[in-house]
Amino acid sequence: MFTWRRQFSTAATLLKTAAMAPSQPTTSFQVFRDVPPLRTLRRQILESNRTVGLVPTMGALHEGHLSLIRQAASENTDVVVSIFVNPTQFGVNEDLSSYPRTWDSDVAKLEQLNAELTAHNTHGRITAVLAPTAQVMYPTLPPSSEIDGDGSFVTITPISRKLEGASRPVFFRGVATVCMKLFNIVGAERAYFGQKDVQQTVVIKRMVKDFHVDTEIKIGPTVREADGLAMSSRNVYLGKRRREVGLVLYRALRAAAEQYHAHGKLQRSQILEAAERVTKEVIAEQRGLAPAERALFEVDYISLADPDTLDELEVVDPSKGAILSGAIKMAPLEESRAGEDCGLGEGKVPVRLIDNLIFAPRV
Ligand code: AMP
Repeated sequence: MFTWRRQFSTAATLLKTAAMAPSQPTTSFQVFRDVPPLRTLRRQILESNRTVGLVPTMGALHEGHLSLIRQAASENTDVVVSIFVNPTQFGVNEDLSSYPRTWDSDVAKLEQLNAELTAHNTHGRITAVLAPTAQVMYPTLPPSSEIDGDGSFVTITPISRKLEGASRPVFFRGVATVCMKLFNIVGAERAYFGQKDVQQTVVIKRMVKDFHVDTEIKIGPTVREADGLAMSSRNVYLGKRRREVGLVLYRALRAAAEQYHAHGKLQRSQILEAAERVTKEVIAEQRGLAPAERALFEVDYISLADPDTLDELEVVDPSKGAILSGAIKMAPLEESRAGEDCGLGEGKVPVRLIDNLIFAPRV
């Protein structure tokens, strides 16, 4: 039988060989910047009949990420959390540099979570954090974000072109590529993804199936703020005014879902009309306010789609269920008021919000 003490002393030995991220030391897990030392640890885990759950993230950790790690720790002895802001999923016009990077507080949250897992006697612990450089993840070419850029990419079509992919054409190519790299590096028994990014879950599940990747994909529920806003690393850019107005997306989706669940509506038009009513009402309300009071936004899409193909549905088949999802673009604030909480970037950063509700198959 292995003990955590024994594991951590093994970990301490490995620590010497692992290239470290800045701001060390950590006590309860190792930080890896490169692949070979992590592979060594992976082999040891395998030889000890332990299992690995991988939780891929881009850092700026919040409860949504932590809930996935808790789930991974309840189903595996060892959790590997990756923190990598993946350049190839940002389009050339999307600002990679403005993505929040909060390494020190991320490490502190993971340390605290390991203490919580110990206190609750949970099955597993966070054993390793993989925080690779772009050079490690993209060893051959500088990573390209151009649509026709060169590189070794994984493309999963047509589902990557739909919904989010329609306005972010390189996004899922970047996501699938980086996840394939992470899956190959970590060789996890299971990998954990949030329902919050529902199209991502569909793309990754398809990739794993089509490429025979030996990692089981597990989906954790969307974690929300008390008022219902889906947690997201980008929410720090919203500020109070845009945050309140941004709740419109969740309200619209819930109104649509109610048509299905409470009123038995199956037709696309009947379901989506309810969402449109909510968004139109809030847009009109905001337009009627002064620039220093309002937060303008555009609806990118509200979709009612097949759970496997993401094809838009005219009618929901309750035995198959559906994915109801949407995206809105919160515009920068036109004017701010003295002392107003405008969020990081003073309300000037446009923020795209996505959310979804699943209509589970009825048996
Ligand atoms: P990110 O760091 O935003 O790339 O997210 C890393 C993982 O956390 C992805 O699988 C996301 O779907 C998941 N995630 C992000 N936000 C939430 C949330 N509010 N609830 C559940 N999972 C989330």
